[in-house]
Amino acid sequence: MVGSMVVLGIESTAHTASVGLVTEKAEVLGLASDMYRPIKGGIHPREAANHHVECFPGLVERALESAGVRPADVEAVAFAQGPGLGPCLRAGATVARMLALAWDRPLVPVNHCIAHLEIGRVGSGMDDPLMLYASGGNTQVVAYGRGRYRVLGETLDIGIGNFLDKLWIELGGTFPGGPALEAEAKSGTTLLPLPYTVHGMDVAFSGILTAALALSARGASRADIAYSVEATAYSMLTEITERALAHRRRDTVVLGGGVACNERLRTMVRTMVEERGGTMYVPPRSLCVDNGAMIAWNGWLAFRAGVTVAVEASGIDPRQRTDLVAAPWRVV
Ligand code: AMP
Ligand code: MG
Repeated sequence: MVGSMVVLGIESTAHTASVGLVTEKAEVLGLASDMYRPIKGGIHPREAANHHVECFPGLVERALESAGVRPADVEAVAFAQGPGLGPCLRAGATVARMLALAWDRPLVPVNHCIAHLEIGRVGSGMDDPLMLYASGGNTQVVAYGRGRYRVLGETLDIGIGNFLDKLWIELGGTFPGGPALEAEAKSGTTLLPLPYTVHGMDVAFSGILTAALALSARGASRADIAYSVEATAYSMLTEITERALAHRRRDTVVLGGGVACNERLRTMVRTMVEERGGTMYVPPRSLCVDNGAMIAWNGWLAFRAGVTVAVEASGIDPRQRTDLVAAPWRVV
């Protein structure tokens, strides 16, 4: 598309290597992704990083070609700086630095969690939504306040997606477990008792994991376990989202993260929000899971607000917290 300037976004925080090209009006012109799928067990960071290194040259080419964009049309190169797995982040950051140097373009650091929120915000047209971010490694309820995105509640142990994946693998399945559990849950009939752990606006999942495996050892069916785990874990997420809405006097919610693909979670949160007179938005699947387009879009927002980083200072931050990153584009 001749004449459109784009930001190129690089995502590589965990299992997915992805390159997105987005215009300053948030149109996604190109998106090319490749997911590392371990044959056995969960994600091995080094193996995932090797996968990303191999994929990136082809992904950059595919994204540019499918969009009809030339390097000269790229205004800036954005990359996910954190949080995520160190080796994976490093693979993406290296590619971003290389492109920025080769094309002589500014480099823009982006926080992965905030990128999920921003792609939902622009897609929804909502001005100031709260986000329930439910992904593999992250589970947070986030809202903007005074210059930053604030984490109102979060998991105290593992991310919801990692919990679902781990449970499914322990029950004999393969990664990713979330979608498989969703399918299995459809034939569940009995709600089994599981720990329901909500502390204020925080949640914890490891107790459910232990209890579900104990039920399995005692002969409970996979279908009933899947059904009960979904009911319990998604109720917990719905409860903390409602509490955050009430405290922050918000009435709009966006969902983000791979677990936001789950129909049951969507229905539960939507029902809760609509009963309060509000609205919920969930981005299309390709923008819900980890993707380079959300990094590119957040890259535009940050770049226009003057955020860039020198290559020498562009280190990754595997533990970067949502609430430690300034969001100057939100300051009016
Ligand atoms: P992300 O880290 O945001 O890319 O999301 C990946 C996580 O989403 C993995 O843990 C998957 O198991 C999970 N996931 C993907 N689809 C679904 C689904 N339909 N239901 C529940 N979890 C899902
Ligand atoms: Mg994510």
